Amino acid sequence: MTTLGSAITDILPQISKRVEKQLTHLGIRTTKDLLFYFPYRHEDYRVITPIGKLGELAEGNRAAISARVDLIRTFRSAKRHMLITDAVVSDPSGSTKITWFHQPYVGKTLPIGTRAFFVGRVTGKHGHEFINPSFEKILGSPSTGFGNIGRDAGRIVPVYRTTEGLTQKMLRALVRKALPAATTLPEWLANGVIGENGLLGFAQAVVAIHFPADEKVLKRSRDRLAFDELFLFQARAFEAASHWKRQQAPVVRFDEPATKTYVKALPFRLTDAQRKAAWEILGDIGKEHPMNRLLHGDVGSGKTVTASIAMFNVARSGGQAALLCPTEILANQHFETLKAFFAASEIPIALLTAHAVKLGSRRVLKNTVLKRLRSGELPIVVGTHALLQPPVLMPKLALAIIDEQHRFGVEQRKALSERRGDAVVPHILTMTATPIPRTLGLTLYSDMDLSVLDAMPTHRAGVLTKVLRADERAKAEEHIRKEIAASHGVFVLCPRIEVEEEAGETLFDWEGSRSVKAESQRLATVFSGARIGMLHGKMKSEKKEEVMEQFSNGDLDILVSTSVVEVGIDVARATIMLVENAEMFGLAQLHQLRGRVGRAELPGFCYLIVGTADEQARERVAALEQLTDGFALAERDLELRGPSHLWGSEQSGWPKFKVADLYDKAMVERTHRAVKKLFREDPTLSKWPRIKAAVMRRARGLT
Ligand code: ADP
Ligand code: MG
Repeated sequence: MTTLGSAITDILPQISKRVEKQLTHLGIRTTKDLLFYFPYRHEDYRVITPIGKLGELAEGNRAAISARVDLIRTFRSAKRHMLITDAVVSDPSGSTKITWFHQPYVGKTLPIGTRAFFVGRVTGKHGHEFINPSFEKILGSPSTGFGNIGRDAGRIVPVYRTTEGLTQKMLRALVRKALPAATTLPEWLANGVIGENGLLGFAQAVVAIHFPADEKVLKRSRDRLAFDELFLFQARAFEAASHWKRQQAPVVRFDEPATKTYVKALPFRLTDAQRKAAWEILGDIGKEHPMNRLLHGDVGSGKTVTASIAMFNVARSGGQAALLCPTEILANQHFETLKAFFAASEIPIALLTAHAVKLGSRRVLKNTVLKRLRSGELPIVVGTHALLQPPVLMPKLALAIIDEQHRFGVEQRKALSERRGDAVVPHILTMTATPIPRTLGLTLYSDMDLSVLDAMPTHRAGVLTKVLRADERAKAEEHIRKEIAASHGVFVLCPRIEVEEEAGETLFDWEGSRSVKAESQRLATVFSGARIGMLHGKMKSEKKEEVMEQFSNGDLDILVSTSVVEVGIDVARATIMLVENAEMFGLAQLHQLRGRVGRAELPGFCYLIVGTADEQARERVAALEQLTDGFALAERDLELRGPSHLWGSEQSGWPKFKVADLYDKAMVERTHRAVKKLFREDPTLSKWPRIKAAVMRRARGLT
């Protein structure tokens, strides 16, 4: 009997060592592994079209034919040295041509006289023919010695990701052997959830994802398995959140009169959005269970001052607060800002990075700051990851703020929590400007409470955005000349670093796109005498910080860079951003980039140069001329280009699913509702031990 734990060699003893190794390479060792090795698509071999009727199909349609190989040969193309196999196949109604590129083994698998099913898209170049079709030999044809030939006729069959030498046929045969064991897979979801969502049973879905009876069942099976993945991901987040909330945190008393005085003394009036967010944060940190809140606001929405109100109250109540920044420049900037905010209330503040340690306005020894933090007498510290190291001990740490970090800063959260040195954990506030469509936020942030700064401080001069064709560049350059003369800073962004570069490793066709190095040289001739600096990802971080510093201080007029320019950096003197090949960036990303100008009293200008004649590309970018809301732009990106181009979606740490699509709005909302309902009924999940077990497995990184 084949069980879930059976080794591959038990269910198919004649398997060769080579195949066994290849399977191991794919992560397949047992029956269970096979069952959960889902196909990424299917081929439909049910409807056979007579060759004579292929001409009636529109070009690009998929079709299956049942035919005999009359001629077949493999040769190398003269021009591009490509291996090409072409064949003529026929059935009683006619004959057609088939071409395979880069698949020389086909010639050996399909000798003349073989009968087979061929499935693929019909192309009309020379009448109706096939390019790179899949095929299945029909029973009775010369055999390759592997079993089950021809069993796929008349069915929908799975197509798996595989490695060289391991054919679809072998994988299908193996999966067929494993299928009976699927009936022993226990249903892990609650009956209520299954009923309410009209889901297929678990075992049934696993069988059907491999060999579905028809498209309807296939769809329901994918639906069920996608549901499972999104459900589990969110349930895991809810579980973590509910665990976090059960821990003990220091209560930070809200000192209303002092806060009023503090806010009054600020150099500007808070927006309603800032007041509301600050209020939500103060409410959270006043409780004895830790906060885990995300402060989400567009670039320039004023997250820092909002957070400072919480820090102020922490200091007033005798606790400690730490602000963790991704870079030294940002840490410096926040330190200076907060120092100014807290000056009137005489709250001591320190800076701690790898290269600079300050106490108020003085540079001091690292030990001085460490000692004061350890004794609890230093209430506020701003720093980089240096803050996460063991010598840093803050026994009264009540609030840890993480700036511009990706949501999956789980490690940082943990390291920060440990800085107290006891079982009590600090409240955590994460701040981000990354615009994420709402659907995505539901899943990614399901373990956090959310405060949104949805309005901009009115004083902001804003950014005027203009899309230009490449031949209109002179208009922007004229403007740049004026700004340089007025001692303002200019950002120029290019999609790549050098001309000759890792082409092929990226999503884009680089041909004709501008590079940081070439553009710096060109600009030096256009603006003779201008001081031009470069910034890109291949530079050492120290060098990057140095260049950024120079630009910030006014020692550089133009900064030519890739999109590495720090998120959140405030260069008050920068007034223009010019983006070359804007069509190569996501809208949300362009929006974040332009947020680096027009931050102070000076109005900002953003020129987006579209380097292609493609009218659609231009129209897409033109959305930035009207839309000023990062979230709306992120949604637009998602609609127009799909998730792969979305800002940050390729970042590591984002969940990867086998079947589910993080951007399937309806499914994300459905699973979100289901998870929420479950946790409302029983936050410990003790009513549903199977769900709990699955969540815990997920928590340990198992599936
Ligand atoms: P971000 O949300 O991008 O981190 P910051 O906190 O850096 O934004 O704020 C951007 C700029 O706006 C800062 O110079 C800050 O002092 C200023 N600012 C913040 N809130 C207000 C406000 N309500 N009115 C005017 N200026 C503000
Ligand atoms: Mg910021």
